[in-house]
Amino acid sequence: MNCRELTIQLFLFPFSITLLSMESEPLLRIEDLEVGLGRNSGTRVVDGLTLEIRKGEILALVGESGSGKTVTALALLNLLAEQDLRIVSGRILFKGRDLRTLPPREWQQVRGKQIAMVFQEPGAALNPVIRCGDQIGEVLVWHERLNATAARGRALELMQEVGLPDVQDLYRSYPHQLSGGMKQRIHLAMALACNPELLIADEPTSALDVTVEAQILELIRRQQEKRRLSVLLITHDFGVVGAVAERVAVMYASRIVEVGSVRQILKAPRHPYTLGLLQSIPRIEPGGALRTLPGQIPDLTRPPGGCYFHPRCAYAIDRCRRERPPFEEVEPGHRTACFEHARLAPMSAPPA
Ligand code: SF4
Repeated sequence: MNCRELTIQLFLFPFSITLLSMESEPLLRIEDLEVGLGRNSGTRVVDGLTLEIRKGEILALVGESGSGKTVTALALLNLLAEQDLRIVSGRILFKGRDLRTLPPREWQQVRGKQIAMVFQEPGAALNPVIRCGDQIGEVLVWHERLNATAARGRALELMQEVGLPDVQDLYRSYPHQLSGGMKQRIHLAMALACNPELLIADEPTSALDVTVEAQILELIRRQQEKRRLSVLLITHDFGVVGAVAERVAVMYASRIVEVGSVRQILKAPRHPYTLGLLQSIPRIEPGGALRTLPGQIPDLTRPPGGCYFHPRCAYAIDRCRRERPPFEEVEPGHRTACFEHARLAPMSAPPA
């Protein structure tokens, strides 16, 4: 068993308990979302995405780079225009209201206040010429209408809450004076400042070393529990998934291909892509072979027919090249888009 697998095992049990006590009402429901590239192209970078995030849960969105995870997050926050992307169809229901119908001035009450986002590179997300504490205070002045004194006091409290030491000194620091982990804590304090209901964390630890990564994940988990936050955690790392998430959605080439609880996905995946990702986790046993997932994500301007995964799939049959597989429930709470999912069921024979 390697380190990542060990992490996954250690965290499965406590989170299965959390799962039982979790509220089941969705906070966010995305229905059949399609995001197109450019104004007139037929290219879809998010294709028929349906997903829900329940109140107080951490949902991990997993997949290789280029699968559409970050675009999905940007679509939720109405931030696609700068990327030359647009929502073609679908609904994004947040607390029952379709965000696509929100007038621009009402977005100020949602973005950064009810839905906050933490980005992969905290250094790039912070303003290099504004003191760190003032950047947190700005959020409170803008969204909560606090005066400067109250905003400063609250910013200091938030800095303590996210585990920063010597907050009076750090308040006056500029981002370049802080380590990567400290910058990410400042970024998290900004995101949590208005007590959001949904936090989108886009690869929040991938720029950090492994010890700092564990601390930031623990911080996110503690804040989620304390605030009953819902979290959409975007990652390509199943170690991160096993450490903090309760459910997992796997995305491949613009489409969701599998959704289930952490236990269902990590113990018994029912989609060959998920299985390939899990088998690609490096092992540290002496002589252990390094397994990889052959091939690469297709060019979405010229995608293959049928199931987009078929050129890389060891389980593919003729039908996979012609038809898109339906998204079917294989057990309660576990859905997959694969014609051959029965062959991945526990005790089934591997592909010839
Ligand atoms: Fe593989 Fe076919 Fe399943 Fe796609 S539908 S994952 S090609 S077996």
